[in-house]
Formats: sequence, C-alpha cells, structure tokens
Amino acid sequence: MTKLSDLVPLIPGQLHGGVLIREEGHFYNCPNCGQKVDQRDLRQVFWHEEGTSL
Ligand SMILES: [Zn+2]
Repeated sequence: MTKLSDLVPLIPGQLHGGVLIREEGHFYNCPNCGQKVDQRDLRQVFWHEEGTSL
C-alpha cells in the first residue's frame, strides 16, 4: 500500500522547484565580472553588456 507520506514530498518539491527555476531564470552570470545579472533590470543588463566591448 502506498503511504501518503511517500507521495506528498513530490508535489511541494515540484512547486518549489518551479519557483526556484523561475526566480533563478532571471539571473545569469556575467562573463566579464562573474556577477549575477538580473535580466529584469535592463540597467544591469546594459551595464554588463557594455563591459563586453571594453
Ligand atoms: Zn559584468
């Protein structure tokens, strides 16, 4: 018989994973300085992209 305690962890695990992925998905590591850049903040994106041309 399957215990409910065996099934429950899967559901919040997926939900939490989805949230984390969505949150982490906004960030990428700048290849120049290695800092995390928030793609939602265009100032950060352009700032780090300008560094590429230097
Ligand atoms: Zn950078």
